[in-house]
Amino acid sequence: MRRWNGWGEESVVAQVPEAALTQLAGHLGPGLPGPDAPWAEVVAAVPASRLPAHPLVTTEPAPRMRYAAGQSLPDWIALRSGRLPAFPDGVAFPESEAEVRELLAFAASVGARLIPYGGGTSVVGHLAVPPGPRPVLTVSLARMSSLLDFDGRSRLAVFGAGIAGPDLEAQLRARGFTLGHFPQSFEYSTLGGWVATRSCGQESLGYGRIERLFAGGRIEAPAGRLDLPPLPASAAGPDLRSFILGSEGRFGILTQATVRITPVPETEEVHSVFFPEWTTALEALRRLAQARLSLSMLRLSTPEETETSLRLSAGGRRLVLLDRYLRWRGAGPEKCLLLLGLAGSRRTVSVGREEAVRLAVTGGGVSLGRLFEKGWRDQRFRAPYLRNALWERGYALDTLETAAPWGRIPSLLGAVETSLRDGLRQQGETVFVMSHLSHVYPDGASLYTTYLFRRTADPEEMLSRWRALKTSASEAILAQGGTISHQHGVGRDHLPFLAREIGPLGVAALGSAARVFDPDGIMNPGALVA
Ligand SMILES: Cc1cc2nc3c(=O)[nH]c(=O)nc-3n(C[C@H](O)[C@H](O)[C@H](O)COP(=O)(O)OP(=O)(O)OC[C@H]3O[C@@H](n4cnc5c(N)ncnc54)[C@H](O)[C@@H]3O)c2cc1C
Repeated sequence: MRRWNGWGEESVVAQVPEAALTQLAGHLGPGLPGPDAPWAEVVAAVPASRLPAHPLVTTEPAPRMRYAAGQSLPDWIALRSGRLPAFPDGVAFPESEAEVRELLAFAASVGARLIPYGGGTSVVGHLAVPPGPRPVLTVSLARMSSLLDFDGRSRLAVFGAGIAGPDLEAQLRARGFTLGHFPQSFEYSTLGGWVATRSCGQESLGYGRIERLFAGGRIEAPAGRLDLPPLPASAAGPDLRSFILGSEGRFGILTQATVRITPVPETEEVHSVFFPEWTTALEALRRLAQARLSLSMLRLSTPEETETSLRLSAGGRRLVLLDRYLRWRGAGPEKCLLLLGLAGSRRTVSVGREEAVRLAVTGGGVSLGRLFEKGWRDQRFRAPYLRNALWERGYALDTLETAAPWGRIPSLLGAVETSLRDGLRQQGETVFVMSHLSHVYPDGASLYTTYLFRRTADPEEMLSRWRALKTSASEAILAQGGTISHQHGVGRDHLPFLAREIGPLGVAALGSAARVFDPDGIMNPGALVA
């Protein structure tokens, strides 16, 4: 059973090693745990529905509670404290496009707002229910999750948009293929959600972001249906897939999507290379990214993140021995870990490995081969469970991400980390910050930062601390020429900063597109477009 107020399956309980907790307490002070609102109490607080009865819509309190939020930190604070600002008035689980159209017509006829819901893993407030006089209907795509068509010759597959990562991969792997899209939220996030948020998977370097994988699809909008056939390329005017990619449920409901698939690779490897310090590591990463080798992943951690990952994964005597060896090789306390992934035929992997490791080592790295591969594979979708454990020990964890050209990365990293580290100084609190670069391009990279601070007994106070941190980090990102989001999207949390990035004409263009698809402003108001 999936947790209703945290991440993941209830049966999976992550433990933070005591040594890591001691280190954290040394940085932030002892954690401040507190009780969470119980499920029964939160469900009992769900008000009466304002929607008239409809055969496709449930107005029961329990599902309305479960579909009231996503996974952003404000969502967590609301769920854990039981203070959700609003609940959907009903939840629907359509099984066909005809039912989706019926629900759109129903919402229009009763003056309701409609929120499309994929896997509920949004981390930027896409799914927060807007309080207000109009009823809200949440539409889950969970029952539209079949494989609809498969064309191995063209390497295309069509799925219902509600299919979640594990199901989609299982269907493709049974036929010898993969999509190669593995966001860390893979366990629950859906194809429709990936497209609607312009998601990026851990192996984007090899397989591409969802933009490259999304070949076409169908959107049911209040104004009608838009069909985008899968074409290998087209010059028939601007690419209309761009209206769907990143549309955040604002323009309509994506009911099905055609994706570009790849045969399951013959072999896959993950290598680790340690660099003595950040500047050398960054330069080596840039060279690797620009060498156009057939790599599936490059992920470089700062010294703080390297140290934390080692404490979480190795620990004990193994860590002591590793530290001793790396010091002997010149990589001391400022060391940075680079993970380097390869996937493909044995021949391309062998050629890629040789060249990539050569470049990394001539760039100052110490190669440790596949030492961390198993650990990485075991943990690649498990790390988010630590957020539950940390919360229970009295610490809040959030992440943010951006991207910029290579030349701006050093100042961007410095500005973002400083804005967070100093962000709660007035309150006399410290913030623990660590980062990595995980998606690289010839012209730049994405920066992903994790930050932790102590919980407070008052949820409003915690929310205001989060807001202060989010605002100062977002200001720092924009001042340094970064994007407000490389992969999580705009949602409600980034909306106040979007205009600074895309300008008034960009905002007006998005607003008028929303009015074309959704003239009465039914769809997911408050996300993406004000
Ligand atoms: C632990 C964790 C790890 C994460 N790791 C990554 C990562 O590695 N890479 C990454 O890119 N993101 C990551 N995310 C963010 C999140 O998983 C992505 O944004 C994901 O694409 C959301 O998919 P979803 O199906 O959960 O969509 P939801 O969260 O349900 O919805 C997100 C938005 O998409 C809209 N939407 C969903 N389905 C449809 C549809 N069928 N039609 C129209 N609109 C729709 C919703 O209305 C909403 O606005 C992570 C999140 C968490 C909690």
